[in-house]
Amino acid sequence: MSENKFKKLLIESGAVLDGHFLLTSGLHSPTYVEKFQLLKYPKLTDKICKGIADHFKNTSPSVVLGAATGGIPISQSVGRELSNRSIFAERVDGQLTLKRGFKIEQGEKVLIVDDVVTTGGSIYELMDLVKNNDGIIMGIGVIIDRSGKKIDFGVDYHPLVKMDIPAYESENCPLCQDGIELTSRGRTGKK
Ligand SMILES: [Zn+2]
Repeated sequence: MSENKFKKLLIESGAVLDGHFLLTSGLHSPTYVEKFQLLKYPKLTDKICKGIADHFKNTSPSVVLGAATGGIPISQSVGRELSNRSIFAERVDGQLTLKRGFKIEQGEKVLIVDDVVTTGGSIYELMDLVKNNDGIIMGIGVIIDRSGKKIDFGVDYHPLVKMDIPAYESENCPLCQDGIELTSRGRTGKK
């Protein structure tokens, strides 16, 4: 499936919202990606996640790792397609941690997945988690990269859709200047 086709599915699912949003970073943006509008459709999620699985199939990862909460259904879906294990990390005192008996074995091949990359912060944390467990990172697959730049994680990084979404400091925000009401959306409890 082409990048445009993935993008069309995301827009049709209602995951790409137009408005005036206060992001977790403190910046203002005319676009917000509400990934759960996509993830609420499991079959559509599978269809999109197959794009990630197909890209990394040849690297034969034995475990797929995501971060709670959006990374859980994505990790499950990619893991289902690759017929391997699917685990997730969750925040304990602000730090992504493996709980629930989840393990990465020494030398194990790990595929990292995530929903939306804005600054890449969660991805770097997942990479540290794999390295601290002596796992091997086979790549990083995400649904949307909204960073607007080329992030180099030092491994094969494959976003299905790249969106160059503007974000403004409040004092330079054209939406503020137009007096459009600001909506607070975003991930709470995340850096
Ligand atoms: Zn604004």
